[in-house]
Amino acid sequence: MRLFFNIVGRERLRTGSVHSPSFLCSWILVAFLLFPSLPASLLPVIPSLSVSTCSAAVYTPDNLPIPYLNNKENYVSNPDGILSAEAVDSLNLWLGQMEQKHGVQTVLAVVERIEGGDAYEFCMALGRKYGIGSKEQNTGLIILLSTGDRVYYILTGRGLEGTLPDAICKRIENRQMLPALREGDWDEAMLNTVRAITRYVDGDPSIVGSSDFDDGSDTIALYVFLLCMAVGIGLIALAAWLEERKKRYCPSCHQYKMKRISSRTTTNKSLGIRTHHDTYRCSHCFFTKERHWDENINSGMGAAAAGGALGGSIFRGGGSSFRGGSFGGSFGGGSFGGGGAGGRF
Ligand SMILES: [Zn+2]
Repeated sequence: MRLFFNIVGRERLRTGSVHSPSFLCSWILVAFLLFPSLPASLLPVIPSLSVSTCSAAVYTPDNLPIPYLNNKENYVSNPDGILSAEAVDSLNLWLGQMEQKHGVQTVLAVVERIEGGDAYEFCMALGRKYGIGSKEQNTGLIILLSTGDRVYYILTGRGLEGTLPDAICKRIENRQMLPALREGDWDEAMLNTVRAITRYVDGDPSIVGSSDFDDGSDTIALYVFLLCMAVGIGLIALAAWLEERKKRYCPSCHQYKMKRISSRTTTNKSLGIRTHHDTYRCSHCFFTKERHWDENINSGMGAAAAGGALGGSIFRGGGSSFRGGSFGGSFGGGSFGGGGAGGRF
């Protein structure tokens, strides 16, 4: 702990400068290493900006943006901005709960055009490409609406066909989706549809969430976090070691043989400063030198509090990255057998 105090800079050496540029650099480096998610969290913003500027693209399963891969709380692909931001937020919330509670992994896409105009083929190809849903449970779900082609489809993974049989999908579409589609209210169509699907999924106790597909990215996040911690601690230890080594340097014979042979302190209570007078002697050439450094008497608590705050923020940062705030999701390899229903409007 004494070492830590010295590094943080409580120590003000009169004989030499602690605040060397390289010393500051190592701290900035540590800060960057400890918070790797800062630049990563900005990444999803970049593609969404560039996509929204070029409108009316014709999408294929290959070029459809899948925001979930960058942020696993983002189930909705809305590259043409057809859905409002509020609707997307609500849909993400509900679909997130459905994944957490029941392991149903959804991609909901609303676009203006799809290549070929066949919603079923598009969904099947998308399911094959990404393997949406867990491999064990096959509870993937794809909801597609192409407003320009005027087609829609709800495609259910094999494991969802019991919960959401084709006839139920058809009923949800006819009763919840179609009336809003005919009005051109895309938000309402998707909100009604997902709300209805959620009711069926919540009502089926046989599908319970398995957090399998979360583990992969969480483990990577954990390793990245631990690696950064290790590097950070390593740099702190290195800085401490260099600081100690500097104290052992003998300016007379240029060897690292200086040892502290005596130490006394004087206290100035009005300034709140305790001054240390350390006498060092070189064991090689017996060169003797006194070094003074001030200790802020009130800084004991301050440094401890600062240490606590630093530790706290590191762990808060780690915690949020485990929950995946800015980490991408991964699909579990689920398969689709063509279950579900779709139509035109
Ligand atoms: Zn010496």
